[in-house]
Amino acid sequence: MALRGVDLNGTKHRRAIIVVDPQPDFFEDGPLPIAGATATAERIRDYLAARGEAFDLAIVTQDWHVSPGEHWSATPNYESTWPVHCAADSPGAQIHRALAKVQWDAVIHKGAREGAYSGFEGHGLDGAPLAEILSNRGVRHVTVVGFATDHCVKATALDARALGLDVSVALDLCAGVTPETTRLAINEMRDAGISIVQSSEL
Ligand SMILES: [Zn+2]
Repeated sequence: MALRGVDLNGTKHRRAIIVVDPQPDFFEDGPLPIAGATATAERIRDYLAARGEAFDLAIVTQDWHVSPGEHWSATPNYESTWPVHCAADSPGAQIHRALAKVQWDAVIHKGAREGAYSGFEGHGLDGAPLAEILSNRGVRHVTVVGFATDHCVKATALDARALGLDVSVALDLCAGVTPETTRLAINEMRDAGISIVQSSEL
């Protein structure tokens, strides 16, 4: 019988936590504000300080737009087009100060030339795709948290699941744009086989 988290051959099932887009432009004062973002980032910070050792890798994604085409719009519909946000290298695209002291094992930039909701559309700073970073490190389970539950967290979690990984989303460490789209996103993730939990259950 396999022990929890250990293969029959003794190989540990490695775990990663992916913190999606904790960037000032998505916080209360930004152009695309998410209610409760600051408090959520502080909960992520506290969770990582207390429980971060449970993960073999801590990964952060950043929306990092250079020229993302129609993803940016002067007349955004807030579904497929958005106000200007997270321009590469701008202050609003940096990792939020609440998480500035976290030692990240990989930083993923996404969306240089088009809108990119999933971290799996992005690359590490050395150019490696996120899927490759995870497989090279033997990661079998990912926990996805961050911003926003109904957009980039959902897309990242669904892509991880589609790769065959075990995926959990800790809702108390996420914030969504609207209650209705967040509710729909939770249902969609659950239907895909993703564990929807609280961080205390991880
Ligand atoms: Zn974007």
